[in-house]
Amino acid sequence: MAVQDKSLPSEAFSPTLGRLNVGRKTLLIPEMDRFASHLVAATFRGFGVKAQVLETYKGLDLGKEYTSGKECFPCQITLGDILYFMQEQRKKQGAAFNPGQYVYFLPESDGPCRFGLYNKFQRIVLDSIPGLERLDITSVTTKDGYSAEGMVDQGKALDLKKTAYFSFVVADILDRFLWRIRPYEKEPGMADAFLSRALQTMEKAFERFGPEKEFDRILARLQEIVVEGREIVDPGVPAKPLIGIVGEIYLRTHVHANQDLIRLLERHGAEVVNASLAEWVNYVSYDGLRTARIEFLLHLKERRFRPMMAHLKDMLGFGVDLRYKEHRQKQAYKSIQKVLDLPDDHKISHLEETLKEDDLLSFDIATEACLSVASIVSCARAGYNGMVNVYPFTCMPSTTTSAVVKPYLSRLGIPYLDAPYDSGIQPGREAAIRTFMYQAEQHFMRHGRAKNHP
Ligand code: SF4
Repeated sequence: MAVQDKSLPSEAFSPTLGRLNVGRKTLLIPEMDRFASHLVAATFRGFGVKAQVLETYKGLDLGKEYTSGKECFPCQITLGDILYFMQEQRKKQGAAFNPGQYVYFLPESDGPCRFGLYNKFQRIVLDSIPGLERLDITSVTTKDGYSAEGMVDQGKALDLKKTAYFSFVVADILDRFLWRIRPYEKEPGMADAFLSRALQTMEKAFERFGPEKEFDRILARLQEIVVEGREIVDPGVPAKPLIGIVGEIYLRTHVHANQDLIRLLERHGAEVVNASLAEWVNYVSYDGLRTARIEFLLHLKERRFRPMMAHLKDMLGFGVDLRYKEHRQKQAYKSIQKVLDLPDDHKISHLEETLKEDDLLSFDIATEACLSVASIVSCARAGYNGMVNVYPFTCMPSTTTSAVVKPYLSRLGIPYLDAPYDSGIQPGREAAIRTFMYQAEQHFMRHGRAKNHP
């Protein structure tokens, strides 16, 4: 039977939503970033959980059928993914189909925007479809830094969380490697085919070495991949304008949802670097630490010792978590830097400093807006030739980003493009991208570019 973690507020909402133990059921993971979703699933398998990634975007019509149009686009896509999977299994298995043998994984986020409600909304939808009320939704939350306590057998949760984090870092490196070599490949399709094979190798590495946290062995495999993949680059192709992407994490990493924007930019002459996945996960710990510190100092001033001690405990928890993540991320980048000049990912504390220097936005506002704005500033300073903000239509944090950075980049003469998406095809999109890339090319010719050409 599913065990629910009492600390999650979702408990009051439904007994089939919360940090539920997966047990012997099959865990269904929605696909966001392709590398990361598959490596997280491999990590779960290494820890003995039957886990698979849901096919994505095929069920979008179903997602739309059960939403009103006011929901964020990622909510429609993920809902469609799970409904499509259930529909196909029902067809395939017939009378033997039992939704209760699956657990659907849908994390949530604290804060002012709607991601905290996806799983509750989808619970209501699933409960309205006969049989699907037996499909549990298991969730991790930003409130405790994505603890997996209760989801897997006792004693495994912390190791699972650490390895899952590492899988995000490795996925970031695979993504960055792909974007680095694809614009310069000797023949079209070589980089994609190579990285598809590389993903399978890394899945096996996580299944085998993940449970014992043998990260050195995982990195040794990754290093071999990078050394082999470097050969795909044609040294005769000159450097291209460097474009940075920021925005909402799901849209900027889900290639169907963003209509394969990175490939489109590449087709118009760009080399692209997207913001990392680890950025968000590190930010969750950073924000937890930052908030606990503010509360601690407030209670210290008022001499309220009991809440003060509770916040001190939170500070220690989030602080240790953040240091651990930064250490692992550095270890991975350092290992790959031996064979590729891959720049380090930025530290969240540096992003906050950057925002303070330019006085553009405060971390007190929270959400991805403070990350996106700060990333844009740091990319502008590093010498990027253009910036793109990718987000679901009506996304609140990304609209804030857009309002703040447009005048800033315009003052600096750096091209900027807003790229909001729903499932519609915007007729002017390609023309906008072509114009943007023309401007980026001009910027590149006048100023050169940041140094990370292969
Ligand atoms: S970040 Fe944007 S897309 Fe995501 S839940 Fe918030 S408003 Fe919706």
